[in-house]
Amino acid sequence: MSLADELTVKLALAERQLEALTTEVARNDDKMRRSQQRELLLLQADDLSSLIGEMLLGLRASYGLEYVSVVLCDPDHDIRHLLLAAGTPVEEFKNLVMVESLVGVAPQYVALRQPWLGAYSACDHQLVFPGASGLASIAMIPLAHRHQLIGSINLGSRDEERFTRAHAADFLAHLGIIASFCIENEVNRARLLRSGFTDVLTGWHNRRYLQVRIKEELARSRREQCHLACLMLDIDHFKRVNDTWGHAAGDAVLQEFANRIDAEIRANDVAARYGGEEFVVLLPDTDIASAILLAERIHKAVSRQPYDLPGGDSAHITASIGIDGVCPDPRADDLKTIGDSLLARADVALYRAKSGGRDQIAVDAG
Ligand code: GH3
Ligand code: MG
Ligand code: MG
Repeated sequence: MSLADELTVKLALAERQLEALTTEVARNDDKMRRSQQRELLLLQADDLSSLIGEMLLGLRASYGLEYVSVVLCDPDHDIRHLLLAAGTPVEEFKNLVMVESLVGVAPQYVALRQPWLGAYSACDHQLVFPGASGLASIAMIPLAHRHQLIGSINLGSRDEERFTRAHAADFLAHLGIIASFCIENEVNRARLLRSGFTDVLTGWHNRRYLQVRIKEELARSRREQCHLACLMLDIDHFKRVNDTWGHAAGDAVLQEFANRIDAEIRANDVAARYGGEEFVVLLPDTDIASAILLAERIHKAVSRQPYDLPGGDSAHITASIGIDGVCPDPRADDLKTIGDSLLARADVALYRAKSGGRDQIAVDAG
């Protein structure tokens, strides 16, 4: 072969290599752009529930996959409660798996630092992909919080070649880092928002929280067909406390009043400071007769002993209590209206206790 021919062959070879490289670069470019778009969608999620929705549905659509699930380890039920308070219970997310520990959920969790790609095996992975059928290959992308594994995003495909150990997993690893960051961010933000459900003076929950919880409690009593009772309590002539001893004394009375109620109620009762000197207690699975007994106990507890005031004085306090209860019809769907009317009727009963001379308990007559 002449030198010229040799050069031509080499040139053709170099051209082919260049072409292959250019195609490869273009493919990677495209892959990178799409992967950045996915990450951007996670970063743009407005709150914890849309973030999780984006992980489950958004990733499934953009990867064109048969199955995507998210496993989150939530031992203190923190994330569960944050989602609940934000209005989307965990149960409403299909394929969101909340566990109290990752032990035993899938063998990969023992050392999941990088995405794990490989064959699907029902006995190892069925808890990670609940209800899945026909999966052939999967990717488990670790989610970490402060360097601790808290779960994974799991991609599942019917194509056994889709995720294999030979595949590069850099893009998936990057996605995992961004998703972990987003979860941490949103959990913190939800916590901050939730602190808006707490009354600073008494440490009790506030009216906003009650409005969220009353719907959950009504849903439970509708499901279990049991009574939800509601006590509405109001301190009598509280204005006089402020007028006589000042606002700091009034504040001390409010705190002590709340503590005395707290000591009488159960852990699963829902107590909230409803307004200035008005408090509400929801009693799950409690009929009116039992609610009256509890109201009598609370009534004694809040009025028997005088209240010590900051200046060394003490004040005698009485309170009035209104009671009502409800057991929602199994077909009832407007729980907001049922909750509003439960509170309104307890308020009417409270008004009757006030107009009947205060320092007493009244049950809604209707
Ligand atoms: P009634 O027996 O009819 O309930 O009379 P009342 O004086 O208790 O009721 P009213 O609604 O007239 O007054 C409530 C007072 O509670 C007025 C308000 O200044 C006071 N208040 C509301 N929130 C606070 C608070 O956080 N701290 C203090 N110290 N006072 C408060
Ligand atoms: Mg009052
Ligand atoms: Mg009042």
